[in-house]
Amino acid sequence: MPEAPKITQKPTDYNLELKNKRTLQFIEDMTSNADEVQKNVLEQILSRNAHVEYLQTHGLNDRTDRESFKNIMPVITYEDIQPYVERIANGDTSPILCSKPISEFLTSSGTSGGERKLMPTIEEELGRRSLLYSLLMPVMSQFVPGLDKGKGMYFLFIKSEAKTPGGLVARPVLTSYYKSNHFKDRPYDPYTNYTSPNETILCPDSYQSMYSQMLCGLCQHKEVLRVGAVFASGFIRAIKFLEKHWRFLCNDIRTGTIDSQITDQSVREAVMNILKPDPKLADFIEAECSKSSWQGIITKLWPNTKYVDVIVTGTMSQYIPTLDYYSNSLPLVCTMYASSECYFGVNLNPLCKPSEVSYTLVPTMAYFEFLPVQRNNGVTNSISVPKTLNEKEQQELVDLVDVKLGQEYELVVTTYSGLYRYRVGDVLRVAGFKNKAPQFNFICRKNVVLSIDSDKTDEVELQHAVKNAVNHLLPFDATLAEYTSYADTTTIPGHYVLYWELSLNGNTPIPPSVFEDCCLTIEESLNSVYRQGRVCDKSIGPLEIKIVEPGTFDKLMDYAISLGASINQYKTPRCVKFAPIVELLNSRVESCYFSPKCPKWFPGHKQWSNTN
Ligand code: AMP
Repeated sequence: MPEAPKITQKPTDYNLELKNKRTLQFIEDMTSNADEVQKNVLEQILSRNAHVEYLQTHGLNDRTDRESFKNIMPVITYEDIQPYVERIANGDTSPILCSKPISEFLTSSGTSGGERKLMPTIEEELGRRSLLYSLLMPVMSQFVPGLDKGKGMYFLFIKSEAKTPGGLVARPVLTSYYKSNHFKDRPYDPYTNYTSPNETILCPDSYQSMYSQMLCGLCQHKEVLRVGAVFASGFIRAIKFLEKHWRFLCNDIRTGTIDSQITDQSVREAVMNILKPDPKLADFIEAECSKSSWQGIITKLWPNTKYVDVIVTGTMSQYIPTLDYYSNSLPLVCTMYASSECYFGVNLNPLCKPSEVSYTLVPTMAYFEFLPVQRNNGVTNSISVPKTLNEKEQQELVDLVDVKLGQEYELVVTTYSGLYRYRVGDVLRVAGFKNKAPQFNFICRKNVVLSIDSDKTDEVELQHAVKNAVNHLLPFDATLAEYTSYADTTTIPGHYVLYWELSLNGNTPIPPSVFEDCCLTIEESLNSVYRQGRVCDKSIGPLEIKIVEPGTFDKLMDYAISLGASINQYKTPRCVKFAPIVELLNSRVESCYFSPKCPKWFPGHKQWSNTN
């Protein structure tokens, strides 16, 4: 298997050109030998885990070849391994899924039973994640030279963590990464030279973290060559924060002191190493920020910015117009595709249009398989993937190098940390090949209807939440005739909108407070990632119910039929995205109500509440 390029330790022997060349060569080798690498990865995973309970139970009996693996091991979802995961969470340290000790749980934004899925991980996975990160800038430097001459202004955050009853930490993958030595003690590298000191990223208070990162970004504005955050929604939140707080930030820059609301001592010290009184800069920022239009604010405040580095594929594409507005259409760059289960791949053509982004899966990260997906044609364009697979369907999974151009697949992974033929839930389409390795467009997350930030709400969760809420209407002899939903990102932060058409049988008018209760009940019924976004990260705004005129959903059906939907097969879509349909709904709104307060949310899983 080709060796990952080594990282040089001292700035003095730093030979950037050589390092970039080696990294690009590594990508060439990996992708040229994709099948061989995949075979080795599977052998390595299976031989070192031969004695773990999960593989033994299924009777793999030390076999490490692909054929036996595919014949014997089932293709699974989270629910299949949940009992094993729970045992690990409760303190069973025997080799259940993996021969190496489970170092922590990564809490996915995908949920099961309303709670974040728990992905067991092992220490060495941090090395694999670092490797994937190390590929990004050498790739980028082929298209944008000179990025080593300045800094990146990235808004990076940690989230709260919990302990499982057995004592393992459970936290999101990025929190784990930023808190690890791989990030904190990263060796000198001009490409990981950020405006945010580690202390500001690692501050658990999200206000102080954002404030201090913005302050440092503004102070070093001329040095900034690229800006970004992980997801588009996070970057827009940062701009919104600036809109709200620029007066305080300017004051700090003018006087060279930090606002008293920043109480974290390590943050204050780190910022004071950067902050110098600079009245001229404060005047400049003040002049720009007080203008009535913020169009192009990024290019004004950070004039040397060459691109915005944020994920705008998948549901994040809804933020492209806002980003274009703030950045005067700077290139939007999606560099990588990753998850809690495993980091997957990189974009080898990062300056391409967002709609054309494809990710090349890195064959060393895990063993990848692909389940063909059928698309149901028609207006809803829905994607059909069976929940459990029969034997024939399990046989249809293909290897990385065998996928077909243009075909859509669900991604299935076997990882070093103990997931075997695990369905990630993402649907990808083959867009091309880099040598032997396929490149995929990210199509969607299976079943997800609504998403604003990292929340993912599926149709069943939405249905259940709505069902709970309509109980409030019972005393008024009113029922819900039809409903649909929409992720409204025209507000910052974005919020869920539900369109409700009522059938009113009683005469008593329904007071607004009842609809507000309905909003809150829906929020309380949604999964913990949604509620965390509302309560803790403030990345999602209050849920809104819009009551539409009677007959609106008939109009919606007429419209869908006029576009070619079959009248016999027509079902009300539970989520709408297509602009003319949203317009149609909005044109028939009678009244709107918002959730009056935040739903409840606690860190960790419901069932651990006694142990935290
Ligand atoms: P999590 O496990 O919470 O880290 O979420 C991982 C999921 O986020 C993936 O399975 C995808 O659904 C989504 N995701 C990650 N990277 C990208 C990307 N570059 N484009 C679109 N969706 C992504």
